[in-house]
Parts: sequence; C-alpha cells; structure tokens
Amino acid sequence: MSLKFNVGDLTIHRIVEEEGKFLPALDMLPGLTPDVLAENRAWMKAAGALDDSDTLILAFQSYVVKTPHHTILIDSCIGNDKPRPGRPSWDMKADDTYLRSLAAAGFSVGDIDFVMCTHLHVDHVGWNTRLENGRWVPTFPNARYVFDKTEFDYWTETNAKTEVGPFVDSVLPVVEAKRAEIVRNDFAIGDHTRILPTPGHTPGHVAFAFGRGKDDAVFSGDLMHSPIQTRYPELSPKFDVDPAQAAKTRRDFLEHYCDTATLCCTAHFPSPSSGRIKRKGNGFVCETA
Ligand SMILES: [Zn+2]
Repeated sequence: MSLKFNVGDLTIHRIVEEEGKFLPALDMLPGLTPDVLAENRAWMKAAGALDDSDTLILAFQSYVVKTPHHTILIDSCIGNDKPRPGRPSWDMKADDTYLRSLAAAGFSVGDIDFVMCTHLHVDHVGWNTRLENGRWVPTFPNARYVFDKTEFDYWTETNAKTEVGPFVDSVLPVVEAKRAEIVRNDFAIGDHTRILPTPGHTPGHVAFAFGRGKDDAVFSGDLMHSPIQTRYPELSPKFDVDPAQAAKTRRDFLEHYCDTATLCCTAHFPSPSSGRIKRKGNGFVCETA
C-alpha cells in the first residue's frame, strides 16, 4: 500500500485510520441505476472500490503534507472516545490505529503546524481533539486549526437548532482553546498552500492546493467519494447537502485538473486514494501512479 508520495518540493503521507465496506452503491448514490452499476462493476472491483455484494469500499484517512516550511495535516478522520450512535464501528472507538499510523510516518502530534479541514463532517474532524481528564483538548498542541468561515457559520447555525455532536466535541473545543483560524477563500500559507472553494457536499466545503506557483497536489476532501463519480460526475451521494451544486463542483474540479501533472489526493477512494485526472468518454478517471 502506497503511503508516501513526493511531488515538487512536497512530501505527502497518508495516515489511514480505516478502509473497508461503507454503504451499498445503489443506496449511497441515488442517481446510480442497476444498469450503469453493472457496466462498471468489473473495473470498480478491480480498483478495490466495490465488493462482491456491490458495497462501496472507502478509505478514511488524513494526509500530512511537508512543505519546505511547514508540516500540515489535512482532515483529522474519525477519532476516539466519541459518541457516534449513527455508525456503531465509530461509536466510542478506542483503538490506536491512527496515532500508530502517524508515528509510523515519522510524526508526533507536536510536529503538526497546521490542521486544515476540508469540511466539518464527523470523519474529517475526529482527531482534532482527544479526551484528557474528561475534557476535549486539541490533539495537536502546536497546531493552528484552519476552518473555512462559510463552513463554520453553517455548522454554528445548524448546531444552534439541533446539537451536532462532532461540532461540539471536535470543533468548538479548538475554538475555545484559541487554536482556530476561521478563514475566507483568500487564505494562503506562504506561497505553498491555497484554498479552493468547492461547495455542494457542504456549503463551505473547500479543497486545498499545494505547490509553489503551481498545484503540485490538490486535496479534494468529499467533493467525491468513489472512483465511479469521476466517470459520472453527476452522481451525488445521498448526503451531499446540495446535490446539484455538488455535481457541478465535481465536474468543474475534474475538468480543471484533467490532463495536468497535479496529484489528486482524495479523502475516500480506496488505496492508494491518489492519482492524476485523465479524460474518459464524457467523464474522467483518476489514474493511480
Ligand atoms: Zn468524508
């Protein structure tokens, strides 16, 4: 399994917390028909993205990017000790897989300079905090945590109506600890790190582009979840907040990076989760290295 990539002057590490069955393809992607699934079953299975019962296989991971100046963690995965009644395998999870993967890549929690979240869903904020003496504290003690303002405002409003567990235990404690930077789309870190607004999955979803003067790598978060969406960018999963906008964002993103040298690092595609976007018919493929 490829866990490390070098592009330009960046080193990229995958920190995998989990990889396996997620949801049946026809359930997760309401626009997918049995016929289209049948046409694509063989290559999806060969890519490790679909199992024998037509269930999608997803990875859950962070990326750590080392630029010449900083060590930046992108999305913080699922986390431990958190009540997640909606998904039993994540509920009050207590394994050491994630921190062991981080250590195996050569990093301690103190090495991370920035944590950047593409959006504030449960599987992208979990390790933002950990439990210490009954309180949620930032897991990465030296990091500034970057949250997009549109996204942060959306969840602040949603949480005011009905409590959103991951926002309360994995985002607000970071704000209270004064480690959060709520940023707009012009945010950049030096000449290596930029924000790319990619709304639809959530209203303030963003991708992150890295590289000096050009995009050597882009981290696409949840603007797509499975390789079948590169072939059919109009397929929005049932949990996209605005499926029509998500579909447009997906196609625009794939078109923008198609036939470029940019390494596209996805949050959830099965290992190796990363590749370069090429045209295929009326859609695209993410060609793994
Ligand atoms: Zn996700």
